[in-house]
Amino acid sequence: METQHIPPEWAFEFHGHRCPFMPIGYRMGMEALAHLGVEREQDHSFFIFPELGEGHPQTCMMDGMQVATGATYGKVLMAKTFYGKLAATFYHPSKGGVRFVLRPDFIDEMGAFEFFAYRKRGVEPSQIPAAIVDEVTQWMYERSDEAMFKVEPKPDFSFEPVKGSFNKTKCSACGEYVFDRYVRIKDGLPVCIPCSGYGKQ
Ligand SMILES: [Zn+2]
Ligand SMILES: [Zn+2]
Repeated sequence: METQHIPPEWAFEFHGHRCPFMPIGYRMGMEALAHLGVEREQDHSFFIFPELGEGHPQTCMMDGMQVATGATYGKVLMAKTFYGKLAATFYHPSKGGVRFVLRPDFIDEMGAFEFFAYRKRGVEPSQIPAAIVDEVTQWMYERSDEAMFKVEPKPDFSFEPVKGSFNKTKCSACGEYVFDRYVRIKDGLPVCIPCSGYGKQ
């Protein structure tokens, strides 16, 4: 399959700038849905585990993944592994998982485009001439799936999300609500984590 999977305009508005990586993540997400044979997730049954970390480029991919799949950060369907790799595992409880990796040769070829010379000089994507951004993005659209992605089926992948609960308590110190999973006890009274003086765990 060689579908370009060009993101809808609202995806660029949501993302905030034009760059090649949001569209790469979008394409990865669309391919993952097709591979697993599922539709864009409306509720809470599709998960993404991006292997990206922080303090490195190309994390924009994760916005495209969310747009494509509906597995969003806000629905708690996305959790980074912080491996610092350009890869992600996509998982549906009834379909298993699949891991997509950007091929090193693809990354190397893409890195030769002028877009990256601007980025390495610290120029933000919104400040890079549109023609320079479009050049690398169009090149990406024209690559084959095979040239871009290594695809590893992970039929045995499993993940158990935290069981949800609506129960909440008022913190005895600040009076703000805290969901019970996060309530701590201090001097025999329920408190929120910031009021507890304890760490997150
Ligand atoms: Zn971006
Ligand atoms: Zn409190």
